[in-house]
Amino acid sequence: MTVYLVGAGPGDPGLLTRRGAELLERAEVVLFDRLVDPRLLELAPADAVRLDVGKRPGQLRHQDEINALLLEHARLGKTVVRLKGGDPFVFGRGGEEAEVLRNAGIAFEVVPGVTSAFAAPAAAGVPVTHRGLSSSVTVVSGHVSDPDAPGAVDWASLARTGGTLVVLMGMAARAEIARRLVEAGRRPDTAVLVVRRGTTAAQASVRTTLAALAEVDLGPPCTIVIGPVAALDVLGGAPRPLTGVHVVVTRARAQAAPLVSALIEAGASVIELPVIAIVDPPDGGEALRAEAARADTYDWIVLTSSNAVDRFVGNVRDGRALGSARLAVVGGATARALSAHHLVADLVPDDETAAGLVASMPPAPSGRATPGRVLFPRAAEARDVVAPGLRAKGWDVTEVDAYRTVAAGPADGIEEGELDSASRADVITFTSPSTATFYAQLAGRRATPPVVACIGPVTAEAARRAGFSVDVVAAEHSVDGLVAALAAHLGAAVSPSE
Ligand code: SAH
Repeated sequence: MTVYLVGAGPGDPGLLTRRGAELLERAEVVLFDRLVDPRLLELAPADAVRLDVGKRPGQLRHQDEINALLLEHARLGKTVVRLKGGDPFVFGRGGEEAEVLRNAGIAFEVVPGVTSAFAAPAAAGVPVTHRGLSSSVTVVSGHVSDPDAPGAVDWASLARTGGTLVVLMGMAARAEIARRLVEAGRRPDTAVLVVRRGTTAAQASVRTTLAALAEVDLGPPCTIVIGPVAALDVLGGAPRPLTGVHVVVTRARAQAAPLVSALIEAGASVIELPVIAIVDPPDGGEALRAEAARADTYDWIVLTSSNAVDRFVGNVRDGRALGSARLAVVGGATARALSAHHLVADLVPDDETAAGLVASMPPAPSGRATPGRVLFPRAAEARDVVAPGLRAKGWDVTEVDAYRTVAAGPADGIEEGELDSASRADVITFTSPSTATFYAQLAGRRATPPVVACIGPVTAEAARRAGFSVDVVAAEHSVDGLVAALAAHLGAAVSPSE
């Protein structure tokens, strides 16, 4: 039985330590704080017990209750991860939890985390110390209502100390804090930075002065930085292009990750609404298995989606079973899907569309006893241009159902409320024709987000047929291409900070 007090970092799941990730991966019980990113919880085994012990208004969990839960699970012999925001020993009451465990004779370990006290300012372009401007930083709690309480912050002497002040939990008392610092001699025009939810997609920041701090209106959690460094913006003031933009991702859950990450990287808030699911083809995959077993009798195997790659390769014993068959894919993403299986695409068209693929395929060999043969594993419902295009070039094309794309619905966990919040987003993205068609069916009469962005022309065409007016079509038909096109479209219309 061991309890691990693990710092989750300031918000961005990428800022968890490796030790923290390792422990989460083998946790049996995770007790987590309110602001911990759900993607961190996904690191824990599927059957791990996840307990939200966040303190929130109306549902007050007392520290005693949390301590009792820690002891209870530890005594059951479980591997317990107590996942706390930022660093567990910076205003996190981690020290108290450690004492409780020590007094109970329970083995525990502390895994430090990246504290928001330094990371939130950094994410907004402010270094807490800076040569020539500040050579000290003091981290204080602003959560002090009674100035005579033991351990209460002596604002007057802090004002005299100078250097950078970082105030956590200080928004409620911000007017009072500013007043006391000014009274004790800090200039009213001292620079102040307020960062809300630093390092997350919801990051927002305001630069102001002590005199005007009271007027800043940002919801929790906020870090306040006071001192000349707060006027710096060493990131060059370049906001991430999609900061503050809410984007709906309609891709099947298993495939959404690259797009979701790219959007978050660009600053967006992502709403995942997987309107499609990838399932076995109608024959259960029998035909695919049969053709995959004689893959070496084909000249080419043509793959136009990562799903087709995964389903086809999943039915091939190993690379040797392909014999001399060559592999043609539709674009970079499909090529990468192949290389994940240690296979290299022989043909990737410059124009990453089905038409581009057909155009760049060679004509079928003439003067051979047997015709040139192409195997085309594809979605069961596909009626696209590849097979007819290749037949027109003389190829004998065998089409085989590799998978089926079906509409996801309430049975797959899509709820009315999620459709409502998706309809209120700023942007909806479609990454395949079926995402557009199925979203239209699910959304019904709900409003469409003001910007409709599609990964390529075929998807855009399907979206138009489904009744959407398409605003963005990516020039490069990839996740990065889509995010870049979206950023370019929104351009100056996006405000850098709220
Ligand atoms: N142990 C945590 C701090 C806990 S106190 C740490 O080391 O970061 C909670 C306070 O931290 C909040 O009231 C807020 O002041 C600050 N905070 C936490 N996450 C933040 C974030 N992402 N951005 C800005 N401030 C944050």
